[in-house]
Amino acid sequence: MKAYERLLKYVRVFTTSDEDSESVPSTARQFDLANILVEEMKAIGISDAHVDDKCYVYGSIPATPGYEGKPAIGFIAHMDTAPDFNGDNVAPRIIEDYDGGEVVLGESGRVLKPADFPHLPSLKGRTLIVTDGTSLLGADDKAGVAEIMTAAEELIKGGMPHGRILVSFTPDEEIGRGADCFDVEHFGADFAYTVDGGQENIIEYENFNAAAAQIEINGFNVHPGSAKDIMINALHVACEIDGMLPAGQTPRDTEGYEGFFHLCDLSGTTEHASMYYILRDHSAEIMQARKATLKHIEKLLNAKYGEGTVKVSIKDQYQNMIEKIKPCFHLIENACAAVREAGCEPGIEAIRGGTDGARLSFMGLPCPNLGTGGYAYHGPYEHITVEGMDTATRVILNIIAKYAE
Ligand SMILES: [Zn+2]
Repeated sequence: MKAYERLLKYVRVFTTSDEDSESVPSTARQFDLANILVEEMKAIGISDAHVDDKCYVYGSIPATPGYEGKPAIGFIAHMDTAPDFNGDNVAPRIIEDYDGGEVVLGESGRVLKPADFPHLPSLKGRTLIVTDGTSLLGADDKAGVAEIMTAAEELIKGGMPHGRILVSFTPDEEIGRGADCFDVEHFGADFAYTVDGGQENIIEYENFNAAAAQIEINGFNVHPGSAKDIMINALHVACEIDGMLPAGQTPRDTEGYEGFFHLCDLSGTTEHASMYYILRDHSAEIMQARKATLKHIEKLLNAKYGEGTVKVSIKDQYQNMIEKIKPCFHLIENACAAVREAGCEPGIEAIRGGTDGARLSFMGLPCPNLGTGGYAYHGPYEHITVEGMDTATRVILNIIAKYAE
């Protein structure tokens, strides 16, 4: 079976996760796909395939005789789709020999167009898979699931020598909890790759360091007619804080390796105001400087308005996996060689966000990210090509071959 055929089957299973849910997994419907995947794994010959009570699917392919001493390599993809957009009743459409131009998405009124997605002409001639405009596609990350499953099937059939291979499909990645209950020891891989990226030739092993800052501002409210030198308007202090941050360091103004302060929430009254920032930077040192900047602002404003006016609480969220990948850089070298052997020029990109792989890397399982061939995730314009999926599947198999050398 081809990877895209599996994708078409998986996207019909509703697996949206829910950030407001406290349960594990966040939505029970993710078990619907997990159970299908376990059955399919067993059918292709992964006899120990199982799903645990937290909806993590695990399975292993034993090494071919004589290759038991080779590194055990894992491949991981997530089953949930992003709560950002409807993930139910997904109705994919296949466009053969795509002309590289505009695509009307069903009756939705939405049009997938090169003006918004400049890479589209580069997909000319391929078989394109799009939505009907009323849902996301779910290639993120069911394409990764389909590619790993297809590679596993070929590996079991193929007679190509390989070390021990581990497969896992996880829930709740889109709400940042995909690594929470991942059992690294049970999984048993020495190294792993998440297959959860975009374009099929891209390899990612750097992500943001991330922290969040909650700022509480206590004002002092008196009648505005007699407020001279007395009133402290918490809302003005909030504006002052934002104004003291370095210019142009917002998500809108930054790209590549440039970090930012992002004001996500601001609310309040004269009496009290709250601000919520997220801080992001690939550099751990600059991240420390970002935190220090906020603490410095806290100190200055408390000196100006009185102790206790501003309270800055900073919480670390996740870290850049690069420090865990650097000591095992063969992961990247082998992935680059695997992409090249699949007929593409490898590209390295720094993730402007986090991945489950970053969390897993800090849990003891170094885990860079491979592309699936998908684009425009988390919304109705999500799309992927059959050819991109075939290449991503080939990359997985090539990596496995590298580690058997
Ligand atoms: Zn994803």
